[in-house]
Amino acid sequence: MNIAEKDKQFVWHPFTHQLNAKPAINIVKGEGVYFFDDKGNKFIDAISSWWVNLHGHCHPYISKKVSEQLLQLEHSIFSDFTHVPAVNLAERLLGDLPKNQSKIFYSDNGSTAVEVALKMALQYWHNQKINKTLFIAFENAYHGDTFGGMSVGARNVFNNAFENSLFEVAHIPLPTKENIEELKSIINLWSEQHNIAGFIFEPLVQGASGMLMYEADLLDELIKICNENNIITIADEVMTGFGRTGKLFANDHLKNKADIICLSKGLTGGYMPLGVTSCAQFIYNAFLSEERTKTFFHGHSYTANPTACSAALASLDLLEKEECRQQIKMIEEAHLAFKSKIKSNSKLKDVRVKGTIIAFELNTHEQTHYLNNASQTITDFFLQKGILLRPLGNIFYILPPYVITKEELNFIYSAIEKFLR
Ligand SMILES: *Cc1c(COP(=O)(O)O)cnc(C)c1O
Repeated sequence: MNIAEKDKQFVWHPFTHQLNAKPAINIVKGEGVYFFDDKGNKFIDAISSWWVNLHGHCHPYISKKVSEQLLQLEHSIFSDFTHVPAVNLAERLLGDLPKNQSKIFYSDNGSTAVEVALKMALQYWHNQKINKTLFIAFENAYHGDTFGGMSVGARNVFNNAFENSLFEVAHIPLPTKENIEELKSIINLWSEQHNIAGFIFEPLVQGASGMLMYEADLLDELIKICNENNIITIADEVMTGFGRTGKLFANDHLKNKADIICLSKGLTGGYMPLGVTSCAQFIYNAFLSEERTKTFFHGHSYTANPTACSAALASLDLLEKEECRQQIKMIEEAHLAFKSKIKSNSKLKDVRVKGTIIAFELNTHEQTHYLNNASQTITDFFLQKGILLRPLGNIFYILPPYVITKEELNFIYSAIEKFLR
């Protein structure tokens, strides 16, 4: 059996309709923005491998730091023990995150970072014997595939099968200039009538639901209302963190900062799974008690894996370089220029840009939807051109590693223009 046949026989792939799945492409090497397959084909990774990669594949500096760590300490238990990479990373992240953040809790992916945030918020109230259990979240939200993450996420095709097992959540639409006053009064009203524990949101860009974008000043107003009503705010920055929205964190666009922040994806530069949930001191204080029952009983076997923490430290070294900031700016400017060039194309319902992300919503006979049949056409067209652009239904987007060049971006843009013809 060759690898493709063995893959079909032994492996079950994520988010993949297994029955009709084409043979998976066998990637044998990564270098910079490129992947190489076993047939000698080369692909630009235009979506940073599901939004995780920041500095390109097999970056010599990160690879070196990770190998050094592997020869020193590959992993250790993280209860009663600690290690330099985890402590240094926590210190470093707290230096970069909004000033109200004061503790770092580690886990190992984006969904667990969200679960930790939800559990922290619920237990924050429980420890004070205050009955607050309901969360507010946005319609179309995506917060991961575990049960807590699914519960605060939109009810859709991703979680239909589990609907009866999800806890109840109050969903509100994304804020617009038209509905903001109504949303504010709804939150005010709900907080009188219900026991609202927290409000969780993807700040500025909702990723999985199709790179839906909304304005920072509107989110600021919602956070303010939550603060006034003692509702804990949770920013899920799993996708938006580490430069994606043009600033280091989406929170950096806000005046009012979230109480809890979730990070993963770009955290290790796309090298290794690692999750972080940071929180403000007042949250942490509710767990400081003589009563042992008030402990936060949560942890994962690979919590704060030292190798992953070293990858994250190395990625931050690169992210802080002026060169990287310039690249982020260059990508945003290129996206904006391309947007003005094609925004009136009749095949497009919408083009939107936030920082290093540009998204295109295709006009189709069907509704905008993850299962829209345009998806396969888009994937195949771009793969043929050597571009990995895995769409979300009829929405496709470029979310590139920051080392991409202007020429490589232009190559993708011109493929998009060809596609639209
Ligand atoms: C991807 C994502 C998650 C889930 O992260 P995983 O590492 O895939 O579990 C959660 N929230 C947001 C906003 C995401 O984009």
